Amino acid sequence: MPEGSYVRTIADFHLLPGVAEAIARLNRAGIRVIVVSNQRGIALGFYTADVVDSIHEHLQAELSRVHAWIDAFFYCPHDKNSCDCRKPLPGLYEQASAKFTDITPGSSAMIGDSLSDIEFGRAVGMKTVWIAGPKEIRTSPLWGLRAQSSFLHDGRAATIEQAILMHDGEAAGSREMFLKNLSRTQQLELLKCEVETLRGKLAKLIEERDTASPDKTDRQSA
Ligand SMILES: [Zn+2]
Repeated sequence: MPEGSYVRTIADFHLLPGVAEAIARLNRAGIRVIVVSNQRGIALGFYTADVVDSIHEHLQAELSRVHAWIDAFFYCPHDKNSCDCRKPLPGLYEQASAKFTDITPGSSAMIGDSLSDIEFGRAVGMKTVWIAGPKEIRTSPLWGLRAQSSFLHDGRAATIEQAILMHDGEAAGSREMFLKNLSRTQQLELLKCEVETLRGKLAKLIEERDTASPDKTDRQSA
């Protein structure tokens, strides 16, 4: 879901094509599938926790048609800045790893379509895959470009199916695939963002080097 929009009823909920089959594939491979979501709409009174639970049940029913399932759902029902479980904070990971004690960041991957999903995965130390199709890139080009240029994620996939392929290590060259979807203007914007990011990183590294260097003050005062 894009930030700021909410699934309020089951009628609003749609499983994207290929998702059920992709999850079935993970199930068959013995990979646990856990859904983590921010449900600030509960705190705002847009819907209740019961609605969220019934949407999860609806999802399980849809998945069961292809013998797929979600192993667990964890969600944050709180408003911004009022808890430690609203993504990108790591609370939902802690809840999941408390329930499934064999979970480790190194053996997990976070697949998501929002920046907070990717930041959450990075904060925990998981592999991350950002999913954004041409539609997301078109409707919010700068968001997509910034997310891409900040190097926050390990790979970009257009679909969950593709993300799982990437997770399996079967798809390479995601950056090239990403660039192919962009117009010339978007490619230029992306490169500009990347240069800015690199410039910032360089400045930070130089600053750190100069602060850490013991003889720097001597040199300056000499
Ligand atoms: Zn929370």
